[in-house]
Amino acid sequence: MAERPRLAVIGAGPAGLAAALAAAARGVHVTLVDSAAEPGGQFYRQPAPGLRARRPQALHHQWRTWERLRGGLDAHLAAGGVTHLSDHHVWCVERESAGLTVHALLGPDQERPAAVHADAVLLATGGYEKVLPFPGWTLPGVVTAGGAQAMLKGGLVLPGRRAVVAGSGPLLLPVATGLAAAGAEVAALVESADPKDFVRRTRALAAQPAKLAEGAGYAAALLRHRIPVRTRHTVVAAHGGERLEAVSVAALDAEGRPVPGTERRIACDTLAVGHGMLPHTDLAEGLGCRLDGPNVHVDDEQRTDVPGVWAAGEATGIGGAALSLAEGHIAGRSIAARLAGTEPDPRAWAPAARARTRTRAFFAALEGAYAPPARWAEQVTDGTLVCRCEEVTAGAVRRAVGELGAGDLRTVKLLTRAGMGWCQGRMCAPGVAGVAGCELAPGRRLLARPVPLGVLATQAADAPDEDTSAQ
Ligand SMILES: Cc1cc2nc3c(=O)[nH]c(=O)nc-3n(C[C@H](O)[C@H](O)[C@H](O)COP(=O)(O)OP(=O)(O)OC[C@H]3O[C@@H](n4cnc5c(N)ncnc54)[C@H](O)[C@@H]3O)c2cc1C
Repeated sequence: MAERPRLAVIGAGPAGLAAALAAAARGVHVTLVDSAAEPGGQFYRQPAPGLRARRPQALHHQWRTWERLRGGLDAHLAAGGVTHLSDHHVWCVERESAGLTVHALLGPDQERPAAVHADAVLLATGGYEKVLPFPGWTLPGVVTAGGAQAMLKGGLVLPGRRAVVAGSGPLLLPVATGLAAAGAEVAALVESADPKDFVRRTRALAAQPAKLAEGAGYAAALLRHRIPVRTRHTVVAAHGGERLEAVSVAALDAEGRPVPGTERRIACDTLAVGHGMLPHTDLAEGLGCRLDGPNVHVDDEQRTDVPGVWAAGEATGIGGAALSLAEGHIAGRSIAARLAGTEPDPRAWAPAARARTRTRAFFAALEGAYAPPARWAEQVTDGTLVCRCEEVTAGAVRRAVGELGAGDLRTVKLLTRAGMGWCQGRMCAPGVAGVAGCELAPGRRLLARPVPLGVLATQAADAPDEDTSAQ
């Protein structure tokens, strides 16, 4: 029997799963490599099997779509068309003369190396939350909005009893309503966006009635759970001794500054805060793929400009699960055709392409409306930590700019160590750049995650190959 072409899909969220199913259905052997224990990605994050969740769907939207994806994956796993490698953290994709090699670390300490060889790679690594600093943000009890949701969906636990959900972006809505539905008291939803900015974009937003219905559903849930919503407000400080006890929120003026005299204190033990999302582009950067702003650049077939490498989902731009599904499907079909040596016919995926166009336009309009307060960095006091790993304060960053003449993020990093710690700037770079007044440039990191020196030393010689030869 002729060998099947091999595709490595990195990321088992909606984009990766849609691509894996589309490619496997067309004769490609797919190895699905994902750092999580269960498939689903962020949107369909699953509780650990040991928790024996009786109704996991209660915490999710679009559960039928998940059942379809899960059923398809199970069928391909049973038939040997897909191999799923969970708990595999990919740190590099290498181009070689005979294809591509995906290098991963596995195990609880991420110290065991593994390698997957493939003819094509799909980067479906999703996005991560943008977190901006403010006084008190390092107190225990302050978590990211997505972190609070992950505790709920993945661990079936509440981060606290009385929560404030704050920041900017559509993610705040499922987080606030999800926490309330699970029994937390949500003392306020604090959104810095101005409702007028949505009214100005009515035409673009109305072109996606399903999304508007989803928004109306959240509005109804906010009312049902009696969650007070404060738009054009921001959290100016978190207070507490050993842990979070309260937050101060204030109204924002037209310039994005807190209006003096509008501050009020809200008692809470949890602050779930997020300021939008950024695409995961580390692996693409390591491969030398072109970026468009923060996003991996792709063509109509979801191909990057590096031969053999496709990208789909939030790595190519933040746009929600439906867009990730459409892009993944297109990528999977394109890859199957190209690996078979044929020119793909875009008419075969026309409905997905139309959904992609509509959803991209919708999220472009949303992106213009949701934004952190324009002057957020002015609220960050000199004593506030901006890089948690290296414990660098805003004052140190300002001195690097004002007294030592740093004019870009890299020089700020060299002078202060901000971004040199464990996260390598993945979490703190937007905050450091904002406080420094520098542009947020792509990290261009060689390795997508920290790799033990011992692994690097043995890598060239003998990283064990994963068995992907079920074809
Ligand atoms: C924290 C968080 C919470 C969210 N909650 C909601 C919500 O409630 N409602 C909503 O509509 N949208 C939500 N979103 C947005 C939603 O997740 C996305 O729209 C959708 O899941 C994107 O699908 P995707 O396949 O592109 O990426 P994801 O679903 O993010 O999947 C990417 C997968 O890639 C894996 N991965 C990334 N890097 C590596 C690597 N180096 N090695 C191995 N695996 C890797 C990740 O573990 C993940 O499983 C959330 C996003 C985030 C970040």
